[in-house]
Amino acid sequence: MIRPSVRAMKGYTPGEQLNDPEIVKLNTNENPYPPSPKVFEAVREALTGDRLRKYPQPMGDTFRRAAAEVLGVAPESILIGNGSDDILTILTRAFVPEGGRMASLTPSYTLYQSLAEIQGATLQTVPFTPDWTAPTPWPLTGTHLTFLANPNSPSGTLLRPAEVKALAARVPGMFVLDEAYAEFAEESGLPLLAEIPNLIITRTFSKFYALAGIRFGMAIAAPEIIRELAKVKDSYNCDVLSLAAATAAIRDQGYYAGLRSKILATRGRLSAALAELGFRVTPSQANFVWCQRTDRPVKPIYEALKAQKILVRYMDYPGYGDGLRITVGTPVEIDRLLAALREAA
Ligand SMILES: *Cc1c(COP(=O)(O)O)cnc(C)c1O
Repeated sequence: MIRPSVRAMKGYTPGEQLNDPEIVKLNTNENPYPPSPKVFEAVREALTGDRLRKYPQPMGDTFRRAAAEVLGVAPESILIGNGSDDILTILTRAFVPEGGRMASLTPSYTLYQSLAEIQGATLQTVPFTPDWTAPTPWPLTGTHLTFLANPNSPSGTLLRPAEVKALAARVPGMFVLDEAYAEFAEESGLPLLAEIPNLIITRTFSKFYALAGIRFGMAIAAPEIIRELAKVKDSYNCDVLSLAAATAAIRDQGYYAGLRSKILATRGRLSAALAELGFRVTPSQANFVWCQRTDRPVKPIYEALKAQKILVRYMDYPGYGDGLRITVGTPVEIDRLLAALREAA
C-alpha cells in the first residue's frame, strides 16, 4: 500500500551521529562552540509560566521581526522552518507537481535527491565544472525547481553574486539558493532578492548559530512567495523552545561574529596543514574543508581516523574522486586530527 515512488526510494542517509563523548566529531559541520549564552537564557525563560501549554506563533512573528532587522528585509519575506530541511521540503511540495522536474548541481547536498523521490519527481543533476562553477549555457529546460548549495557541500566553494544572478536568469522555474553556510563566506546572495523574481534563499541555524539540536531554519523570498509557502507548511512547524532559541541567537550578532573569527582562523590553519600533508585542498568559504589525494584513495585514511575516534565525512563521487570533508572544529580537535593524520596520511 506504500506509494511506488516511496517503495523505490533508498532514503536519505544522514551523517553518523555517535554518542560517545570521546569522539572528535568533524563529520556533520556543527559549530564546535556553544550557542550564545542568551539562547540558554531565552530557553529557560520559555520554560516558565504558561508558555509550553499554549501553541507557538504559527508564523513566528517575533522571530521574523528580529531576523528582518538583521537581514535588512521585510518580516513578510521570511518563512520559519523546523530546520532548513523542512524548508526544502516545503519548497518541493509547493513548486513541484507529481512527475515534475527538479535540478541541482553535483556533487552537492544529497537530500535534494530524496526530496524529488518523495514528491514522485525526478532530479536532474548538472555537474559542476572542474573549478566548481556552473556550466554555460545551462543545459536544462522545463524544470520546476533548481537547488544550488552556496557555499557548496562538500567543496566549500562559493559562486559569487554576479554568477548566481546570471545562473538564476538562465534557470527555468524557481531557483533556490541553499545558504546553509553563507555566514562563513565572504558574500551572500541576499542583495539579489530584490532583483531576481525566481530566487528563494534558505538559511539554517544548525551551523553558524550552533543550534543543530534545536532544528530551525528559514526561507527568505518575496512576500508573495512566502504567503503561498505558508499554506503548505504545518501550521505550527516550529515550537516555543526553538523559536525562543533562534530569536535570541539572531539578536546576538556580536557573540557569533566572535565565533566566526575563531572558526575562520582555524579553517586557515587546517587548510595549510592538510596541504603540507600532501592533500589537495579546495579553498573553503564554509566551516569545513574538502580535501583529496591525487596519489591514492582516502578511504583507508577515513578508517584510520575513525579507529582513533576521529570522525570525518568520507565521500566518493564518480568523476570527482573520493575525498574527506572535515568540519572546522576547535583548535584542540584540529590538533588531534592533524596528529592522527601525520600517522595515517
Ligand atoms: C546542513 C545543511 C542543511 C540542513 O540544515 P538543517 O537546518 O539542519 O536541516 C541544508 N543544506 C545544506 C547544504 C546543509 O549542509
